[in-house]
Amino acid sequence: MFDPQLENDHNEEARVSRRRIFLASSASALGAVLLWSWRKPWSLEAKASTGAVEKVTIVEFSDAGQRLKTVQVPKVVKTDDEWRKQLSPGVYSITRQADTEYAFSGEYWDNHEKGLYRCVCCANAMFSSETKFESGTGWPSFWAPIAKENVRELRDTAFGEVRTAVSCTLCDAHLGHVFDDGPDPTGLRYCMNSASLEFIAAPAKN
Ligand SMILES: [Zn+2]
Repeated sequence: MFDPQLENDHNEEARVSRRRIFLASSASALGAVLLWSWRKPWSLEAKASTGAVEKVTIVEFSDAGQRLKTVQVPKVVKTDDEWRKQLSPGVYSITRQADTEYAFSGEYWDNHEKGLYRCVCCANAMFSSETKFESGTGWPSFWAPIAKENVRELRDTAFGEVRTAVSCTLCDAHLGHVFDDGPDPTGLRYCMNSASLEFIAAPAKN
């Protein structure tokens, strides 16, 4: 049930006062540096919660998969309750809490149709069927995102493993992880949760 945004709204004051107490009681310059490093991401998020919503650059695509234009748009920021209302419990836990669906359980690992995969939370274009390949893992796998601007990659140390988590640039939905054992031409394997994606079939050609 972790929403950095909500957490931030509720706890910012407490954290600020904790920080003051810590700074006041610590004679160690090193301590202050460590604290600063730890606090940095939260400070960035604090900006978003005070009304100045962060803007991000993404590339728009038509449902037919045609690259349209690069745009700068405000991030999609919703409260935990709003995401819960919009998403089913399973989709919520995967996209907003970085859960993982069971292998071979999702809708798209065996989908061979041509089309576009959008973010299930905000409809940002994520992947094209043109880069989808058979990884044998039971999760839909791609060797590249549809546009590098549309996804963010973050070091993930959950479960004692160092992995690279992939999320939607526009709404921070957790999509899956990227590994370096993929096929040519990139050698990358974007191992995604079906639940994080919505497939839009390409229109039939005449
Ligand atoms: Zn999204």
